[in-house]
Order: sequence, then structure tokens, then C-alpha cells
Amino acid sequence: MRILVVEDEHRMALYISQALIEEGFAVDLAHDGARGLELAQTYDYDGVVLDLMLPRLDGLALCRRLREAGRQVPVLILSARDMVEDRVRGLDAGADDYLIKPFAVAELTARLRALQRRHQRTEIPTLTVGALELDPATRVVRQAGRAVSLTQKEYALLEYLMRRSGYVLTRSMIAEHVWDFTFDHASNVVDVYVKHLRGKIDEPGRQSFIQAVRGVGYVLRDPATAAT
Ligand code: CA
Repeated sequence: MRILVVEDEHRMALYISQALIEEGFAVDLAHDGARGLELAQTYDYDGVVLDLMLPRLDGLALCRRLREAGRQVPVLILSARDMVEDRVRGLDAGADDYLIKPFAVAELTARLRALQRRHQRTEIPTLTVGALELDPATRVVRQAGRAVSLTQKEYALLEYLMRRSGYVLTRSMIAEHVWDFTFDHASNVVDVYVKHLRGKIDEPGRQSFIQAVRGVGYVLRDPATAAT
């Protein structure tokens, strides 16, 4: 994990970076807000430890500019004061966590790791095919904004088809991926589940998301564009 520490007090900056390095983090240091922003926009950090009172650009402004630039890096604010309004302003500016000086280094590293875990979870992208959306993090499936309730196997089948949308998948590929067994060609389990799934995700009277490819298997496509 590579962390950017933005702190103008040199002793404090050194103390934090040494502690992080001992814990196995890679650390870059910036001693003013403008330099901090420049680094944070240039490199892909796993976290930013940000002092509030900084020369050239204060911590809140730095955080706000980072978010405006679309940077989602986790930001942990350090403050000398424990003021409720400071916390609120920090969170409003887009910070993810807040720590009061003086603090134990073990708490700082624990919080950085927790932020990292949260960040990774929220980064799993939603799969979208036309009006169909699947969020692998929450396992919620929506069709035209309406939540669709699926069994575990139906969900696994849909996720597999969506991850490879536009590609023709054979019945044995599907079976081995979703059911984890060697496909018995006499079995119609794939066809049965595709039928269930169609009943749940397709608009009545419209072309299906899941098209059969004769003698081969299935392909998932947006029916709105597949017709052309
Ligand atoms: Ca300061």
C-alpha cells in the first residue's frame, strides 16, 4: 500500500511516515497543501493522510479539489482539535475518516487498512447490459430499475452470462461454470434455468435478453440493440 502523508510539521510528518514504513506501507511526503494535491492527482495512492492546517492550500480545500477531480482515493484527516464542526466539514469535503492528534500509530494504520478494505469493496463495478444491471458487491439485480429476485443458481447463471455478454457460450461452458460439474449432454438443466431466468428478467412481449444459438448454447445481449 502506498500512502501520501500531507503534513507541514516536519517532526510529525517524519513520525507518521516512519511508523507507516515500519508497518510495511510505502510513503510519500508533502509539506504543503498545493504539493499534496499535485502528488495526489499524479499518483495512484491507496490512501491519503491529511493534516487540516496546511500552508498554500488547507486540508479541506485539498480534499474538495481531489473529489471534484474525480479522485476516489480514501482520505483520512488529522486534526489537532476535536471539534464536531471540524469533523462535519471534513466529511462534507469528501474525507472518509478523521483522527485527532495526538493519536496512537496503531490506530492510524488500522484505520488506513479498514479504509482500504471498504474502498476495494465499493470499487467492484456494476455489470450493465441495456436495462439490466447486476451489482456483484450486493448481488442486487435490477431490470429497468426494478429489483429482480433470483435464486442463487439463477444469479450465478446471470452473472456468468452478463460478464460475457455478446459472446456465445456453450451449454457445457455454462454448466461447468455455474454448476461446477462435468456437463452431461443429456441434461437439460441449463435450458431449464435459462427459461426461469427469462421469466424474471425479460419484459413480457419483448425479445429476450438471452438468445438461443441453435446447436451451440446461449448468448446474452441487450434486446434493444440485438434486433438490428
Ligand atoms: Ca499543520
